[in-house]
Amino acid sequence: MNKQLIYFDNAATTPVHEEVIKVMTDSLRNIYGNPSSTHYSGRDAKAQLEESRRKIAKILECKPGEILFTSCGTESNNAVLHHAVHQIGVQRVLTTAIEHPAIYNALKQYEDKVEIKFLQLNPDGTVNLENLKLELESKNCKTFVTIMHANNEMGALNDIQKIAEVCKSFPDTYIHSDMVQTMGHLPVSFAAMPLDFASASAHKFHGAKGVGFLFVRQPNQLLPLITGGSQERGFRSGTENLSAIAGMAKALELATSDLESDIKHLNELRFSMRSKLKTKFPQIKFLTSEENSLCTVLSAIFPPEFDKEMLLFQLDMKGIACSGGSACSSGANKASHVLAQFHIPAECKVVRFSFSKFNNLDEIALCVDRIAEVLSESVAQ
Ligand code: PLP
Repeated sequence: MNKQLIYFDNAATTPVHEEVIKVMTDSLRNIYGNPSSTHYSGRDAKAQLEESRRKIAKILECKPGEILFTSCGTESNNAVLHHAVHQIGVQRVLTTAIEHPAIYNALKQYEDKVEIKFLQLNPDGTVNLENLKLELESKNCKTFVTIMHANNEMGALNDIQKIAEVCKSFPDTYIHSDMVQTMGHLPVSFAAMPLDFASASAHKFHGAKGVGFLFVRQPNQLLPLITGGSQERGFRSGTENLSAIAGMAKALELATSDLESDIKHLNELRFSMRSKLKTKFPQIKFLTSEENSLCTVLSAIFPPEFDKEMLLFQLDMKGIACSGGSACSSGANKASHVLAQFHIPAECKVVRFSFSKFNNLDEIALCVDRIAEVLSESVAQ
């Protein structure tokens, strides 16, 4: 008998949308020129490249020239830090201790060049706005603030609009947000949000892996991280990954075409999972509050009666794909710098269930039943 597989690891990556595959296949097959070539084939490729940029900019309410294509969210984050330190010449970076490693680890290389300060967090993992204001007031210097919109391990959702407004009320302050987990899942308008920079990655919103973008408000002098043939107006050299870029524009179009009802559906899934888990296992706890949480993520702290070491393996055996901490590092069971901030008892295991609009309530019910089976099997042993 075939077991129904349940994919609840969409914060790690999402399945590629069929329509995106069509766009990518068509581009690979028919638009094979190099966008830098001047002949007809190169012009076709250039046209598709710029059309993709225009589509993304239209959705995000910014100028096409403010969207720079990169290879992934990690590159976008690394590039913006490189630019902030070496081109803007910031003296201080304000960030959080729960940023993705693409910021948290990347910042370590600048420890001897700039002051790096971690902002206080509220118990639900969101940034404490009062602390942000106090830090900004405390020193008058060129400051780069980098705060993720939503945390990938816990789902803690920051009010990035408010954070950006606070930052821009101080002189010489630049604000970047890692929006990798929210792009395509929440409404984003760069016309309304006074962010200077934002990072995104296609594979988190049903596009392909290995392509992303960096939003840069009014880019004029950007210091490249990758130097070569001066593509992306010199900011990011390397022949463009055209089919993936065209697919990313299509993926963002699809992801944002029915956003309101998708968010409603995702919240239904998350609330249902939360309440079903709580009913079956009253000792279970959750890392975030119901309100300040991204609709796609539910991180549960399983009580000690579950075998901590074996839990993810047992769930996998039952056909459930989920994750224990960030799956972006190869060993998904590695101690997490994010969870370390929240004093979780050593005997408890955190499991992240992350949903996409393609999941449904039947899968939630089936998943909770299978978790109950895991518990009864481990008790029986
Ligand atoms: N930032 C966040 C918040 C993420 O969740 C991830 C990936 O999980 C990244 C950055 C890295 O993105 P990419 O996999 O495209 O390098």
